[in-house]
Amino acid sequence: MSRAPRVYLETLGCDKNLVDSQAALGLLRRQGFEAVQTPSDAQLIVLNTCGFLEAARRESMERIEELAETKGDATFVVMGCFIQGGTHPVQRLVPGVDHVLGVGQYETLASLLDPSAEAPPLGDPDEAVYSGYAVRTLDDTPSHVAHVKIAEGCSQTCSFCKIPILRGRQRSRPIASIVDEARRLSERGVRELILIAQNTSAYGIDLGGDSRLGALCRALAELDGIEWIRVLYAYPSMFSDRLMDEVYGVDKVVSYLDIPIQHASPRVLEAMGRPYDTDALRRRIERLRTVRPDIMLRSTVLVGFPQEEEEDLEILLDFLAEVRFDHLGSFVYSREEQTAAHAWGDPVDQAEKEDRQARVEDLQWDIALERKASLLGRTMDIVIDEVFDDPEEAELDSLPLERGDDPRSGWTGKPVAFGRSEGFSLEIDGGIWVEGEGLAPGDSARVTPVACGAYDLWAVPAAQSKGMK
Ligand code: SF4
Repeated sequence: MSRAPRVYLETLGCDKNLVDSQAALGLLRRQGFEAVQTPSDAQLIVLNTCGFLEAARRESMERIEELAETKGDATFVVMGCFIQGGTHPVQRLVPGVDHVLGVGQYETLASLLDPSAEAPPLGDPDEAVYSGYAVRTLDDTPSHVAHVKIAEGCSQTCSFCKIPILRGRQRSRPIASIVDEARRLSERGVRELILIAQNTSAYGIDLGGDSRLGALCRALAELDGIEWIRVLYAYPSMFSDRLMDEVYGVDKVVSYLDIPIQHASPRVLEAMGRPYDTDALRRRIERLRTVRPDIMLRSTVLVGFPQEEEEDLEILLDFLAEVRFDHLGSFVYSREEQTAAHAWGDPVDQAEKEDRQARVEDLQWDIALERKASLLGRTMDIVIDEVFDDPEEAELDSLPLERGDDPRSGWTGKPVAFGRSEGFSLEIDGGIWVEGEGLAPGDSARVTPVACGAYDLWAVPAAQSKGMK
């Protein structure tokens, strides 16, 4: 009996890429492929790349070279953002690369190994880009949670950003298509949906009319089995009062929002091509905290932009100190070809950029610690993502990574499980370590945090859990 063709698929970059990889692998499995964990076992090696920033492109190129060198007789395919619609000369630069595929072209993967392979049924041609989503794998994430891509591309024109060039203008998925995927996911045990797009606030605008994010959340909340709906990547100025009321009017939408502000200085925001100022941001965040008083907010900022002077950085730092995000990511500016900001050069040197980033991170460390400390003693429901059989391993993982006293000093138990409350998203934020036996991934638990660091909480079991919602 001949063995099934074997595929090794590796993903670099963001959660949007991860979802594409899960869809690609789902299609390949349906076409008879067996997924393997090491490239040397595979006949088809696929690398789904990232091309967002210079550092990501460097990482992509290094991994392409490594895999090309060691691929042996396998067919090696590079796909994703690095390839820029299939036009990148990587095949010329790295002879071991057999094929390149742009974003969303993964349905042809099987035929690259075997030209006689039948293409899978794609259904509605408009849906071809989402053809693998119905059969996607849930590898690489806990089985009770799934990212769901609600749109592809971006129609904003942020001057620093290459995404619209790499992924095109926004194309929203019809609500029916997303609900269909979510129903299939819930039937497989998924209880938390994480809605992603480059700009979730703008979901549906390209289909005509206003944002349909609220309508989408209402439709998803109808599904049995789905307990948490989480929204990432909300563009601040487009997350209007109406949208807030609609989205948070849905009980299953968790008290959490990822709202990347990028900056707070009006001058820098204008140069970035982001149409809001400090006051507009302040009002937006105040209103979010009025609509959902227990909301936990995540944001992202970018420092070292060409127009950013010391006074702009101070405006940003003052704003961060004022609004006190629960979670914050920071990036340093990377000058990208084909973007509008490219014309302004890169006047802030790397050391200065990193110094500015360190000032943001120092401030945020104290804010995050204070925000997490405010949760101590407050009973909360969490979902368990991971269970450690070896408490020593868990204990090692849960050690505070940077400065500060060991936050577990007031706690005597050994952590054996790691989970999240509504206020923590998968992987990008911290989470909650729990002591206690008998927990499994996907379980709900009611816990009381007794210690914290800037990212994680340490908790003890409380009374019986009521479940996720
Ligand atoms: S909204 Fe986000 S993805 Fe779109 S152009 Fe701006 S930074 Fe890029």
